[in-house]
Amino acid sequence: APRGDLTRTRTTCGYCGVGCALEVLTRDEQVTAVLPCHDGPVNRGHACVKGRFAHGFVRSPDRLTRPLVRRRGRLEPVSWAEALEFAAHGLRAAVAAGGPDAVAAISSARATNEENYLVQKFMRVVIGTNNVDNCSRLCHSPSAAGLTASFGLPGGTDVFDEAELADCLLVVGANPAEAHPVVGARLLQRTLRGARLIVADPRTVGLAGYADVHLRPRPGTNVALFHGLAHVLLAEGLVDEDFLRRRAAGLPELTALLAGYPPDRVAAITGVPAGDLVAAARLYGRAERPAIFYGLGVTEHLHGTDGVRALANLAILRGAAGTGRGYGLSPLRGQNNVQGASDMGALPDVLPGYQPVADAAARERAARAWGAPVPERPGLRIPEMFAAARSGTLRALWVIGEDVCATDPDADRVAAALTACPLVLCNELFLSDTARRADVVFPVASWLEKDGTFVNFDRRFQRVRPALPPPGEAVTDFAVVHALAAALGADLGCRTPADALAECGRVVPMFAGLSHERLDREGAVPWPCPDPGAPGEAALYRERFATPDGRARLASVPYLPPGEEPDDRYPLVLVTGRRWAHYNSGSMTRRGGNLRLDGVDLLDLNPGDAARYGVRDGEPVAVESRHGRAELTARLTGQMAPGQVFCAFHFPSSGVNTLTSGHADTVTSCPEYKVTAVRLIPG
Ligand code: SF4
Repeated sequence: APRGDLTRTRTTCGYCGVGCALEVLTRDEQVTAVLPCHDGPVNRGHACVKGRFAHGFVRSPDRLTRPLVRRRGRLEPVSWAEALEFAAHGLRAAVAAGGPDAVAAISSARATNEENYLVQKFMRVVIGTNNVDNCSRLCHSPSAAGLTASFGLPGGTDVFDEAELADCLLVVGANPAEAHPVVGARLLQRTLRGARLIVADPRTVGLAGYADVHLRPRPGTNVALFHGLAHVLLAEGLVDEDFLRRRAAGLPELTALLAGYPPDRVAAITGVPAGDLVAAARLYGRAERPAIFYGLGVTEHLHGTDGVRALANLAILRGAAGTGRGYGLSPLRGQNNVQGASDMGALPDVLPGYQPVADAAARERAARAWGAPVPERPGLRIPEMFAAARSGTLRALWVIGEDVCATDPDADRVAAALTACPLVLCNELFLSDTARRADVVFPVASWLEKDGTFVNFDRRFQRVRPALPPPGEAVTDFAVVHALAAALGADLGCRTPADALAECGRVVPMFAGLSHERLDREGAVPWPCPDPGAPGEAALYRERFATPDGRARLASVPYLPPGEEPDDRYPLVLVTGRRWAHYNSGSMTRRGGNLRLDGVDLLDLNPGDAARYGVRDGEPVAVESRHGRAELTARLTGQMAPGQVFCAFHFPSSGVNTLTSGHADTVTSCPEYKVTAVRLIPG
């Protein structure tokens, strides 16, 4: 734009998975304001403090503007040609020493769909391995596994607008008032207009103050809680028998299992009074149109996939999915594009569109589109990549847009993995903890500087458009993948993001109806969308579930305890999560005004526990687990139940993720961030 002119760019927020449509105002390559769009499909004129105000990072002097290469132990600025040649040489050496499976990539929920598509294609076609994963591994991988097992597809059963019609909201293991504020506001609005509200969360999260019933299960006991609710639904005849007969499978087995979860026993396991459990089950069971929303409090557990399936049981028992008589259930996705990164096949066991790599027909379809064979053996998951690096079998790791050293659990072991790996490549905005350990750092564009699409928590594709050019020599992740392929003598085709989405539609029938041109015209389109002339499917499963026999699957999974329990040495349970002003490691939100809203990582604890352990409000406190130690500032609050403490991980210097354990979901390897036994040492 000519100097001094104001430019308006419509794009999609790059923070949380709500996917707010935003208008970014710029002048002379500076953001002057970010405004929520009134026709945004979820936000409808609203945005939170992150989307509106946390944009100062784009012109931060800390931004990386030149590629860096490690020489004589130090990262030095080099040209793009030198950086790419260094990386290509290292990748060739890794493959020569250990074969294609000696290389792995961690793709990113912060990258666009088109970038994720290109990364997985690079790994499968250029390197020849399925060793590609993304950070959904660390948050909602149990949702993908659990929802697929229960219903057939790895997304929420309906789009969010249906929640406007819900007469009972069950919000579980989520704090949308802080982590998904626009959804939190709409759920509150629905409650104030008459919907009944049940909140199930150990903490008194924002919505809990408006709840008809607040269930506070001990962290790690969700499966027992959900079975207790299901027990009451069955015992009191609050199930849809016709639906169960026609469209569900597994009722006899579940009925037998639930006999072992009467309210009194569930109360003993979870700490939730039996009366509250029964009251919640009756509210949910008697509603005409119940809806379930859940967050990482359900998934980030040793038995996270079982938790998703046990929660899905409730919707199936009520006939609230696939019938239009309710909302089913919806995972509140954490990162902006965590759904899309997985949809695009940045996963070790599935190709784009969740087509299993073990399926010869799916490999053949992709191979035809890509003009190259697709490797058959499923690749490594993120924790397995780190283990392989520590053991010496992984010789090159490409980390794209994730500060794994700050955000992955048991952080000291992650750092050891990067130190042990002979070649670490890193795409980053800033010199993060991970970038500091890399051998090559590629400076890349942020979400305000790139072109493509994101998929939000309720499966809607929306356009992402550049409001600014990236600083210095930074380029998009899309351009880096192409350039590295070229340095290895390969051509990935699909020159533009629009080409990449079009090619993805040729590989995945359920994305065939999507294109940039269509999204520019229509704004947001949900998947599945096989036909360019028809709307995507907002509400799934109206005819049949996407399981082999078309029936929803009730899950008979027993309650099993979490990986860690408190004991005399570590008497408290730590739960980690997010706060309203910041986002994950805080690399973007800490570089601007949001820092004034929230300036340090706080440890929330109950006043009774504070008195017991000699901790004072506002004073330093050390937290120790069996895995590490963090230094925080204490905040005494009645929001916390006795015996539990809570903190975020927005300030890596506090070391919160040195505390968290290596325990992970037995199905998907999602870390158990929500249950760590700790002790406190007053500062
Ligand atoms: Fe919307 Fe989430 Fe962005 Fe806030 S962070 S503006 S709720 S998408």
